Amino acid sequence: TRYVYRFGGGVSDGGKGDKNLLGGKGANLAEMASIDLPVPPGFTISTAMCTRYYEEGEKFPDSLRAEVANGIAHIEQVTGKTFGNAADPLLVSVRSGARVSMPGMMDTVLNLGLNDATVEGLAAASGDARFAWDSYRRFIQMYADVVLELDHGAFEEALEVAKEDRGFTLDTELSADDLRALVAEYKKLVAAEWGKPFPQDVHDQLWGAVGAVFGSWQSERAKVYRRLNDIPGDWGTAVNVQAMVFGNMGDTSATGVAFTRDPSKGDRAYYGEFLINAQGEDVVAGIRTPQYLTRAAREEAGARPASMEEAMPEVYAELAAVFDRLETHYRDMQDIEFTVERGKLWMLQTRSGKRTAKAALKIAVDMANEGLITRDEAIARVEPQALDQLLHPTLDPNAHRDVLTKGLPASPGAASGAAVFDADTAERWAADGKAVILLRTETSPEDIHGMHAAKGILTARGGMTSHAAVVARGMGRPCVSGAGTLAIDARAKIARVSGREVREGDTLTIDGSTGEVMMGEVATIQPELAGDFGTLMEWADGVRRLKVRANAETPLDCRTARDFGAEGVGLCRTEHMFFDGARITAVRQMILAEDEAGRRVALEKLLPEQRADFTAIFEVMAGLPVTVRLLDPPLHEFLPHEENEFAEVASAAGVGVEQLKRRAAELHEFNPMLGHRGCRLGVTYPEIYEMQARAIFEAAIDVAERSGEAPIPEVMIPLVATKRELDLMKTVVDAAAQAVFGERGRTVDYLVGTMIELPRAALKAGEIAETGEFFSFGTNDLTQTTLGVSRDDAARFLGAYVEKGIYAKDPFVSLDVEGVGELVSLAAERGRATRPAIKLGICGEHGGDPASIAFCESVGLDYVSASPYRVPIARLAAAQAAL
Ligand code: ADP
Ligand code: MG
Ligand code: MG
Repeated sequence: TRYVYRFGGGVSDGGKGDKNLLGGKGANLAEMASIDLPVPPGFTISTAMCTRYYEEGEKFPDSLRAEVANGIAHIEQVTGKTFGNAADPLLVSVRSGARVSMPGMMDTVLNLGLNDATVEGLAAASGDARFAWDSYRRFIQMYADVVLELDHGAFEEALEVAKEDRGFTLDTELSADDLRALVAEYKKLVAAEWGKPFPQDVHDQLWGAVGAVFGSWQSERAKVYRRLNDIPGDWGTAVNVQAMVFGNMGDTSATGVAFTRDPSKGDRAYYGEFLINAQGEDVVAGIRTPQYLTRAAREEAGARPASMEEAMPEVYAELAAVFDRLETHYRDMQDIEFTVERGKLWMLQTRSGKRTAKAALKIAVDMANEGLITRDEAIARVEPQALDQLLHPTLDPNAHRDVLTKGLPASPGAASGAAVFDADTAERWAADGKAVILLRTETSPEDIHGMHAAKGILTARGGMTSHAAVVARGMGRPCVSGAGTLAIDARAKIARVSGREVREGDTLTIDGSTGEVMMGEVATIQPELAGDFGTLMEWADGVRRLKVRANAETPLDCRTARDFGAEGVGLCRTEHMFFDGARITAVRQMILAEDEAGRRVALEKLLPEQRADFTAIFEVMAGLPVTVRLLDPPLHEFLPHEENEFAEVASAAGVGVEQLKRRAAELHEFNPMLGHRGCRLGVTYPEIYEMQARAIFEAAIDVAERSGEAPIPEVMIPLVATKRELDLMKTVVDAAAQAVFGERGRTVDYLVGTMIELPRAALKAGEIAETGEFFSFGTNDLTQTTLGVSRDDAARFLGAYVEKGIYAKDPFVSLDVEGVGELVSLAAERGRATRPAIKLGICGEHGGDPASIAFCESVGLDYVSASPYRVPIARLAAAQAAL
């Protein structure tokens, strides 16, 4: 097998389709070279080598040496320079690159190939000694950090001291001689800390760096990132070795990063930052404040040094042309790295740019309208989960704001929470259920777990493309970066800004859309659902087959759901309705009654209340189906538990305390989840379901009479295991319907069906469908009963189960397609065999999970039902599943 693939100088052994083999960076470098964009020549060692490297105990096979030598020869031939040649040396970068980008995770070494001899050659060949020594000191610093894993603090300190000694503030002020002295200092540091002199053999340097890139695949921070992003550990990373181009060759040289459209709002405008006389890392590291790319962006932000458009108009024009070329070629917004060496533009990276949900929507809709992609592609491009960011509240513009300071609007959305100053505290507090805002001077990959735990991120340093900004956008966390007036003292856990202080635990609000940072909590408002959002949803609705309903049980939830596009209610639970105020007394009276007559007296009192509940819901949902689930939980849930409650309840219910306690003891169950609940209540006390059914039909007729539009009640019997249970309950419901229709002299359409939430019901679905007119898969209970895992107790061990690969994902979040899914598809099949027109839906938590929705599409369910806020997510996921 071949492990080395060349690019540049008219050669491309790979292309953009080879991401699995070459990693994203390598595949796209080859692709850019193949369309004649200016790419420094290089080669990629494939991900297959990474896998083999680990299989063979972190060693390289001998055959790789010859292949790498060929790769180097390719670069030498294109550049006309020789690796290790003291007169005019070839320098390379060694860059990692996995299949998907893992920002900041893997380490890169620049300027490799410098040693005490070649640095002189570089100085002579370039005619710029300062540049040569600057490159050498950068190289030693990076190599010591990334490959030798020495403490980088010591090197930074030496650099600071060198600047301070001469009264400088910027690295660029150091002269060639200053830098030469610094290099000597660095080499001493390496010798002292590593115990050996800095490697002078350029081939040793190369193999050391290649090994370090492969080694970083198994670093702790890479593992954390993979875990958070579901990236398999066996993918491996590729290594790219590429001729260096130099942005640090004086004022006609520069380096920068850019997006072909605004990654935050999605506007069609080039967007980026660059630095004159600098190397790649400087832009992201926040060493100097980067300059804007375009004049418009600079003007909008106010006074800052000249933009690239102004400072280097010719190169800028060339760059803009490349942006357009890349967008049409890749048919997507690109995230780009470039370097200008003495006026010549070089492209160093391109990839599909990460973007906020808002930008993803706008870009997808715009590109479809521009004709760059089809509408179906636009639908497929927006990740359904990402819509979550748009569906949540933003700051109320009219609310009072105590603005502390302002930074850059790095990732949109608003968040309030307690200030914390380190990632570990953020994680701990969040685990205790606290909302936290993470404050850091700047973030690094070590902070990722804390950023994940935080509701929002605030940094004092770093631009729109800083680590904090990129990671926050990827995670969908609001972020304000580069709030320069904020002085953060992480050790003392205190931030100071214009004479005020923020201490750990103080409540802060950040607005990632404006960059504002506020003291205290600021009121929020609901999101706007028109515009691009409305357009994409309309397109999605045009292609999806699955209907989308909501799990809703209050008129407010129903309103929200309908506004979000729900086409009915898939699950209206009725138990919460029994807890309200005075009703609980009647409920308790019913439970305590000695016989049916006693129960009926209490149920009489509940009937008007229950009818009012349904009337309010049916009014909102007029014209649409509403699935009402009859009473489900074990009755003892309604009884008091605390000693002091008993007396209060006893007198309100008109019984003695002792009687109440005796009844409560009678109702006690060892395993209430599998106890006297669901239709078992209806079997033993049919009058309860009779009252509920009556309330449903009376309400439906009331609404039909008042508004002319009847809802379509679907009466759902929970926890059925056998056909006989459903037969009995259907008889009760039908009798109630007939009674009400007779009394009112009018009818409404209705269905009676069941939840499929027990394995027996799934297996006997063929028989149950003889009676049931619809099935709704209650996948929460079905998962619980199929796996034999209590969802209330699963938290203790499910984490370990997912970590060890027993279940790919939490089966209560994403449907266990193999196991529970097989029961669902079997029940659907058997149900349809009996009753071809049977209506099939899903109403568990899974109804809002895109992967589970794709499964529902594949088994041909009629609808999914999700919580109101997830309705748009489900609409989009259903459309994607249908594409
Ligand atoms: P990351 O994945 O962390 O961005 P990269 O491999 O892209 O790491 O490199 C880090 C920085 O070094 C980037 O700014 C990149 O543009 C720059 N860089 C990489 N290779 C070269 C090169 N051959 N010449 C000049 N700059 C380079
Ligand atoms: Mg990069
Ligand atoms: Mg259930």
